[in-house]
Amino acid sequence: FQPWNDPAAKPLVSFRNVVKRFGNVTAVDDLSLSLYPREFFALLGPSGCGKTTLMRMLAGFETPDAGEILLDGVDITKVPPHRRPINMMFQSYALFPHLSVADNVAYGLRREGLPKPEITRRVEEMLALVKLDGLGKRRPDQLSGGQRQRVALARSLAKRPKLLLLDEPMAALDRKLREATQFELMDLQSELGLTFMVVTHDQDEAMTMADRMAVMSHGKLVQIGPPDVIYEAPATRYVAEFVGDINIIEGRVASVAGDLVTVESATAGTVELDEEAPSLKPGEAIFVGLRPEKITLSHDEPGQGVNKVAGEIWDIGYLGDFTMVQVMVGGEGGQLLKVALANRTRRIARPFAWEDKVWLSWDVEAGLVLPP
Ligand code: ATP
Repeated sequence: FQPWNDPAAKPLVSFRNVVKRFGNVTAVDDLSLSLYPREFFALLGPSGCGKTTLMRMLAGFETPDAGEILLDGVDITKVPPHRRPINMMFQSYALFPHLSVADNVAYGLRREGLPKPEITRRVEEMLALVKLDGLGKRRPDQLSGGQRQRVALARSLAKRPKLLLLDEPMAALDRKLREATQFELMDLQSELGLTFMVVTHDQDEAMTMADRMAVMSHGKLVQIGPPDVIYEAPATRYVAEFVGDINIIEGRVASVAGDLVTVESATAGTVELDEEAPSLKPGEAIFVGLRPEKITLSHDEPGQGVNKVAGEIWDIGYLGDFTMVQVMVGGEGGQLLKVALANRTRRIARPFAWEDKVWLSWDVEAGLVLPP
């Protein structure tokens, strides 16, 4: 499923050079983006980067100052919200407290003037879909947070939109419930063949659910792609640091031979990286990105000549699935590198201790070249 790589695929939604300003703040800055039918798309970025504004323009609650928004190739920029086959589920759920669950779900259908039996049928169908059968008579305050979220979901799905926009859909749920709900949402989406666009602060959530995700900064898209590409091949230091944990090593390019780039750094010594078609020149300053889980830790010096550095353990944090070790490398004026050790057996092993002298080593395919 990669319609974005297929030049013949028709997008469901296209933003074309969309701009939205609030006073002197440019919330969305000349942004272009296409979403494809059945895609699960996640928008990621720090607070205030313009995610919600972008989504609200798609729903029709905000009008762009420039550019256009197309749905199935038709310009909908000036179409009012209720005339768009798009629904938005708000972070607060925005349920009517005085209405029953069933009436909340039926609300939009009644406004559309659907016949009563059809409404009843659809409400039942939707409540079954979100596993709330039998709770139709309750009021929202008689439900748990997770159940309330499902009511909001059922309500936004009842009108059978082509596109569902979800603003922080899991924000009010605890971690366990979040994880379960993520998978339910993915099942629901593929079952109904809908297109989802979700805005989230939570990168794990975005990576789990999304076919593609986009990282935004100051109203612009910095990078867009499948989660594994964003994580393993971030285009910039900003993306690398925003998605997941990463060590950044400052260095200078010493040589480039084919795909092999050699970098000299003050803290981690000589670093060799395998970089496809590197456009780097000797002497150039770059950042090397190194994810903590890609570093191996040992007491003995590894045999290889490069991609290894000696250090001292400053901190060890046990996190259940893995242990995060902080190692000071490069002596005086050095830097702390994070190393993530997967806890592979249930044996409680403590192979490393504070102040241990250790070696860090990594593969030529582990390091990332990040432009400064
Ligand atoms: P968050 O993750 O905190 O929800 P966001 O990425 O969704 O943030 P937006 O809500 O889209 O960001 O806001 C983008 C920028 O536009 C911010 O600087 C915000 O203050 C500004 N902004 C958004 N809505 C309005 C408004 N109605 N009036 C004035 N400024 C606004």
